[in-house]
Amino acid sequence: MLERVVTLPLELQDKVRTLAREKHMKILFSKPDSTIQNDSIMDTDECGVVEEHECDEDLFLKAASETVMHQCISEFIDVTGNEAVQQHVCMVCAREMWSREVEQYAVDNILNKQCLLPADFHPAHKSTFSMLLETAIMQKICGRLYGDVCHDCSCALNDNKAPTLSLSNGM
Ligand SMILES: [Zn+2]
Repeated sequence: MLERVVTLPLELQDKVRTLAREKHMKILFSKPDSTIQNDSIMDTDECGVVEEHECDEDLFLKAASETVMHQCISEFIDVTGNEAVQQHVCMVCAREMWSREVEQYAVDNILNKQCLLPADFHPAHKSTFSMLLETAIMQKICGRLYGDVCHDCSCALNDNKAPTLSLSNGM
C-alpha cells in the first residue's frame, strides 16, 4: 500500500496522509483512558510526549527502510530457496512432502514397528525390518538405512497407531 501511495500525485498523497492522520487521531482519542492523556499531550511539549507522537506520524505511510527490505527479501529467499522447496518422500506413506514436513530416521530406529506390518500380506510386498516401507527412497549411510518420515506418520507411530495413509494400511 505504501508503494501505491508514493506513486500517487503529491496532492493525493497529502489528502491520503491527512485522512490517515485524522483517522489515527480519532482512534487515539477514542480510547477510554485517553481523555486524561489528551490534556497531558497537548500541555506537555517539553516532556517529549508530543515529539514522540509527531515522530510516529512522520513515519506513517512512508516507504520501508532499505534494511527492512533486505531483511524481507532474505526471509523470502529462505522460504522459497532450493532447499526449502526440495521434495522429500515419506517412506511410511510414500507421499511427496516439503523438506520442513519430514524428518530423517534410521529405519531400525522407527518406533512401534508393529504398526507398519500389513494386515494382509501380499507376495509382492517387500518388508524391511518387518515393516512395509517405500524402499526406493532409502539411503544407506555407514551401513544403516535412513529415510524420511512425515510428521503425520511420525505422530501416529509415537501414539502407537498405524498411520492412516501408510502403505501398511493398504494405501
Ligand atoms: Zn508419511
